[in-house]
Amino acid sequence: MNAASAAKAETPAAVAAAAGASRSAPRTPTSTQAAAPKPSAAGIVAPPSAASLFDARIENDTFERIREDIGPNCTRCKLHKARTNIVFGVGNPKADLVFVGEGPGRDEDEKGEPFVGRAGKLLTQMIEAMGLRREDVYICNVVKCRPPENRLPEKDEITTCSPFLLRQLGCIQPKVICALGSCSAQTLLQTTQGISRFRGEWFDLLGTKFIATYHPAYLLRNPAAKSEVWKDLQKVMAHLGLEPKRRNAP
Ligand code: SF4
Repeated sequence: MNAASAAKAETPAAVAAAAGASRSAPRTPTSTQAAAPKPSAAGIVAPPSAASLFDARIENDTFERIREDIGPNCTRCKLHKARTNIVFGVGNPKADLVFVGEGPGRDEDEKGEPFVGRAGKLLTQMIEAMGLRREDVYICNVVKCRPPENRLPEKDEITTCSPFLLRQLGCIQPKVICALGSCSAQTLLQTTQGISRFRGEWFDLLGTKFIATYHPAYLLRNPAAKSEVWKDLQKVMAHLGLEPKRRNAP
Protein backbone atom coordinates (compact mmCIF):
# COMPACT_ATOMS: atom_id res chain seq x y z
CA MET A 1 0.00 0.00 0.00
CA ASN A 2 1.48 3.34 -0.98
CA ALA A 3 1.27 6.45 1.17
CA ALA A 4 -1.68 7.90 -0.71
CA SER A 5 -3.82 4.81 -0.48
CA ALA A 6 -2.86 4.30 3.14
CA ALA A 7 -3.88 7.86 3.98
CA LYS A 8 -7.17 7.43 2.18
CA ALA A 9 -7.94 4.27 4.11
CA GLU A 10 -7.23 5.94 7.47
CA THR A 11 -9.97 8.54 7.61
CA PRO A 12 -10.74 10.40 10.86
CA ALA A 13 -14.02 8.61 10.97
CA ALA A 14 -12.28 5.27 10.54
CA VAL A 15 -9.87 6.12 13.35
CA ALA A 16 -12.69 7.27 15.58
CA ALA A 17 -14.99 4.51 14.61
CA ALA A 18 -12.47 1.72 14.73
CA ALA A 19 -11.70 2.88 17.67
CA GLY A 20 8.32 14.10 15.84
CA ALA A 21 27.71 23.13 13.87
CA SER A 22 28.23 21.56 17.24
CA ARG A 23 28.15 24.32 19.81
CA SER A 24 28.65 24.51 23.51
CA ALA A 25 27.05 21.84 25.71
CA PRO A 26 23.28 22.17 25.82
CA ARG A 27 21.79 24.11 28.66
CA THR A 28 20.11 21.53 30.84
CA PRO A 29 17.37 22.20 33.33
CA THR A 30 18.29 22.49 36.95
CA SER A 31 16.28 20.26 39.23
CA THR A 32 14.81 20.39 42.68
CA GLN A 33 13.71 17.45 44.78
CA ALA A 34 10.02 16.60 44.78
CA ALA A 35 7.83 14.63 47.12
CA ALA A 36 7.91 10.92 46.28
CA PRO A 37 5.26 10.24 43.59
CA LYS A 38 2.89 7.33 43.93
CA PRO A 39 3.43 4.28 41.73
CA SER A 40 0.98 3.67 38.89
CA ALA A 41 -1.09 0.54 38.56
CA ALA A 42 1.76 -0.81 36.45
CA GLY A 43 4.17 -0.09 39.28
CA ILE A 44 5.85 2.77 37.44
CA VAL A 45 6.88 5.87 39.38
CA ALA A 46 7.28 9.09 37.43
CA PRO A 47 10.82 10.44 37.82
CA PRO A 48 11.06 12.83 40.80
CA SER A 49 13.75 15.08 39.33
CA ALA A 50 11.89 18.31 39.96
CA ALA A 51 8.88 19.61 41.84
CA SER A 52 7.29 20.25 38.45
CA LEU A 53 8.41 19.47 34.95
CA PHE A 54 8.23 23.16 34.31
CA ASP A 55 10.02 24.18 37.50
CA ALA A 56 13.02 22.63 35.83
CA ARG A 57 12.77 25.01 32.90
CA ILE A 58 15.53 27.45 32.15
CA GLU A 59 14.55 30.97 33.01
CA ASN A 60 13.45 32.92 29.98
CA ASP A 61 14.02 29.91 27.75
CA THR A 62 12.57 30.14 24.25
CA PHE A 63 12.38 27.98 21.18
CA GLU A 64 14.80 30.42 19.57
CA ARG A 65 17.37 29.83 22.33
CA ILE A 66 16.91 26.10 22.05
CA ARG A 67 17.37 26.20 18.30
CA GLU A 68 20.41 28.40 18.78
CA ASP A 69 21.86 25.98 21.33
CA ILE A 70 21.28 22.98 19.10
CA GLY A 71 22.89 24.86 16.26
CA PRO A 72 22.50 24.41 12.52
CA ASN A 73 24.87 21.43 12.32
CA CYS A 74 24.72 19.61 15.63
CA THR A 75 27.21 16.71 15.92
CA ARG A 76 26.64 15.88 19.58
CA CYS A 77 25.57 12.33 18.82
CA LYS A 78 26.17 9.85 16.02
CA LEU A 79 22.76 10.45 14.49
CA HIS A 80 24.19 13.51 12.77
CA LYS A 81 26.10 11.32 10.32
CA ALA A 82 23.15 10.27 8.16
CA ARG A 83 20.66 13.08 8.69
CA THR A 84 19.54 15.58 6.09
CA ASN A 85 17.69 17.96 8.41
CA ILE A 86 17.40 18.51 12.15
CA VAL A 87 13.72 18.01 12.92
CA PHE A 88 12.95 20.44 15.75
CA GLY A 89 9.18 20.21 16.07
CA VAL A 90 6.09 21.83 14.69
CA GLY A 91 2.84 23.34 15.87
CA ASN A 92 1.45 25.72 18.43
CA PRO A 93 4.19 26.87 20.87
CA LYS A 94 1.46 27.40 23.47
CA ALA A 95 -0.42 24.17 22.84
CA ASP A 96 -2.43 22.46 25.54
CA LEU A 97 -1.50 19.10 24.03
CA VAL A 98 1.92 17.88 22.93
CA PHE A 99 2.57 14.63 21.08
CA VAL A 100 6.06 13.18 21.48
CA GLY A 101 7.29 10.53 19.07
CA GLU A 102 10.58 8.66 18.94
CA GLY A 103 12.51 10.19 16.06
CA PRO A 104 12.25 11.39 12.45
CA GLY A 105 11.78 8.93 9.63
CA ARG A 106 12.82 9.29 6.01
CA ASP A 107 10.07 11.71 5.03
CA GLU A 108 10.59 13.79 8.16
CA ASP A 109 14.35 13.88 7.58
CA GLU A 110 13.78 15.14 4.04
CA LYS A 111 11.24 17.79 4.98
CA GLY A 112 12.61 18.80 8.38
CA GLU A 113 9.18 18.36 9.96
CA PRO A 114 7.94 15.60 12.28
CA PHE A 115 5.20 13.18 11.36
CA VAL A 116 4.75 13.95 7.66
CA GLY A 117 4.90 10.42 6.24
CA ARG A 118 2.24 7.73 6.35
CA ALA A 119 2.30 7.58 10.13
CA GLY A 120 2.17 11.38 10.21
CA LYS A 121 -0.95 11.43 8.08
CA LEU A 122 -2.58 9.01 10.45
CA LEU A 123 -1.54 11.18 13.41
CA THR A 124 -3.12 14.19 11.71
CA GLN A 125 -6.31 12.22 11.24
CA MET A 126 -6.26 11.21 14.89
CA ILE A 127 -5.83 14.88 15.91
CA GLU A 128 -8.71 15.91 13.68
CA ALA A 129 -10.89 13.12 15.09
CA MET A 130 -10.28 14.75 18.48
CA GLY A 131 -11.80 17.97 17.16
CA LEU A 132 -8.47 19.71 16.79
CA ARG A 133 -6.31 20.82 13.92
CA ARG A 134 -2.70 19.77 13.53
CA GLU A 135 -1.65 23.39 14.09
CA ASP A 136 -3.49 23.45 17.42
CA VAL A 137 -1.11 20.94 19.02
CA TYR A 138 2.68 20.64 19.19
CA ILE A 139 4.45 17.63 17.67
CA CYS A 140 8.04 16.66 18.34
CA ASN A 141 10.35 13.69 18.96
CA VAL A 142 12.79 12.41 21.55
CA VAL A 143 15.66 12.75 19.09
CA LYS A 144 15.87 15.36 16.34
CA CYS A 145 17.82 13.42 13.72
CA ARG A 146 16.79 10.32 11.83
CA PRO A 147 18.09 7.04 13.15
CA PRO A 148 19.55 4.99 10.25
CA GLU A 149 17.24 2.41 8.73
CA ASN A 150 14.45 3.79 10.87
CA ARG A 151 15.78 1.94 13.90
CA LEU A 152 14.86 3.09 17.38
CA PRO A 153 17.09 5.75 18.91
CA GLU A 154 19.81 4.27 21.12
CA LYS A 155 20.34 5.11 24.77
CA ASP A 156 23.33 7.39 24.23
CA GLU A 157 21.48 9.27 21.49
CA ILE A 158 18.43 9.72 23.70
CA THR A 159 20.55 10.86 26.62
CA THR A 160 22.31 13.42 24.43
CA CYS A 161 19.29 14.84 22.63
CA SER A 162 16.40 14.57 25.10
CA PRO A 163 17.43 17.63 27.20
CA PHE A 164 16.36 19.71 24.21
CA LEU A 165 12.97 18.00 24.27
CA LEU A 166 12.58 18.76 27.98
CA ARG A 167 13.39 22.39 27.28
CA GLN A 168 10.77 22.50 24.55
CA LEU A 169 8.20 21.05 26.93
CA GLY A 170 9.25 23.60 29.51
CA CYS A 171 8.60 26.42 27.04
CA ILE A 172 5.22 25.09 25.98
CA GLN A 173 3.94 24.09 29.42
CA PRO A 174 1.12 21.97 27.98
CA LYS A 175 -1.77 20.59 29.95
CA VAL A 176 -1.22 17.10 28.55
CA ILE A 177 1.81 15.30 27.15
CA CYS A 178 0.97 12.25 25.04
CA ALA A 179 3.83 9.90 24.26
CA LEU A 180 3.52 8.03 20.97
CA GLY A 181 5.19 4.66 21.24
CA SER A 182 7.46 2.95 23.70
CA CYS A 183 10.60 5.02 23.08
CA SER A 184 9.11 8.36 24.09
CA ALA A 185 7.03 6.82 26.85
CA GLN A 186 9.99 5.01 28.37
CA THR A 187 12.21 8.08 28.01
CA LEU A 188 9.82 10.46 29.71
CA LEU A 189 8.79 8.03 32.44
CA GLN A 190 12.34 6.68 32.84
CA THR A 191 11.15 3.11 32.77
CA THR A 192 12.10 0.01 30.81
CA GLN A 193 8.65 -1.52 31.04
CA GLY A 194 6.84 -2.22 27.80
CA ILE A 195 4.23 0.33 26.76
CA SER A 196 1.48 -2.27 26.80
CA ARG A 197 1.86 -2.37 30.60
CA PHE A 198 0.93 1.29 31.10
CA ARG A 199 -0.64 2.50 27.84
CA GLY A 200 -3.78 4.57 28.44
CA GLU A 201 -2.97 5.16 32.10
CA TRP A 202 -2.67 8.69 33.45
CA PHE A 203 0.59 9.69 35.10
CA ASP A 204 1.46 12.78 37.02
CA LEU A 205 4.71 13.60 35.26
CA LEU A 206 6.11 16.10 37.73
CA GLY A 207 2.93 18.08 37.81
CA THR A 208 1.89 17.56 34.21
CA LYS A 209 -0.68 15.06 32.98
CA PHE A 210 1.01 12.36 30.95
CA ILE A 211 -0.41 9.49 28.96
CA ALA A 212 1.17 7.07 26.52
CA THR A 213 -0.42 5.39 23.54
CA TYR A 214 0.72 3.39 20.57
CA HIS A 215 2.73 5.02 17.77
CA PRO A 216 0.78 5.67 14.55
CA ALA A 217 3.33 3.54 12.67
CA TYR A 218 2.32 0.66 14.91
CA LEU A 219 -1.31 1.27 14.00
CA LEU A 220 -0.45 1.05 10.31
CA ARG A 221 0.90 -2.42 10.97
CA ASN A 222 -1.78 -3.36 13.49
CA PRO A 223 -5.05 -1.62 12.62
CA ALA A 224 -6.91 -3.57 15.28
CA ALA A 225 -5.10 -1.50 17.91
CA LYS A 226 -6.86 1.68 16.78
CA SER A 227 -9.72 1.07 19.16
CA GLU A 228 -7.29 1.07 22.09
CA VAL A 229 -5.66 4.29 20.89
CA TRP A 230 -9.02 5.92 20.43
CA LYS A 231 -9.89 5.09 24.03
CA ASP A 232 -6.65 6.76 25.11
CA LEU A 233 -7.34 9.83 23.01
CA GLN A 234 -10.84 10.05 24.41
CA LYS A 235 -9.31 10.29 27.89
CA VAL A 236 -7.20 13.20 26.66
CA MET A 237 -10.24 14.82 25.11
CA ALA A 238 -12.21 14.49 28.34
CA HIS A 239 -9.38 16.08 30.29
CA LEU A 240 -9.11 18.96 27.82
CA GLY A 241 -12.88 19.34 27.40
CA LEU A 242 -12.79 18.51 23.70
CA GLU A 243 -15.70 17.30 21.63
CA PRO A 244 -15.00 14.68 18.97
CA LYS A 245 -15.23 15.78 15.37
CA ARG A 246 -18.70 15.18 13.99
CA ARG A 247 -18.93 12.44 11.48
CA ASN A 248 -21.12 12.65 8.40
CA ALA A 249 -24.44 10.90 8.73
CA PRO A 250 -24.27 7.36 7.32
FE1 SF4 B 1 22.33 16.74 17.83
FE2 SF4 B 1 20.01 15.65 18.70
FE3 SF4 B 1 20.75 15.38 16.15
FE4 SF4 B 1 22.06 14.04 18.06
S1 SF4 B 1 19.91 13.78 17.47
S2 SF4 B 1 23.02 15.17 16.34
S3 SF4 B 1 22.01 15.55 19.78
S4 SF4 B 1 20.21 17.32 17.21
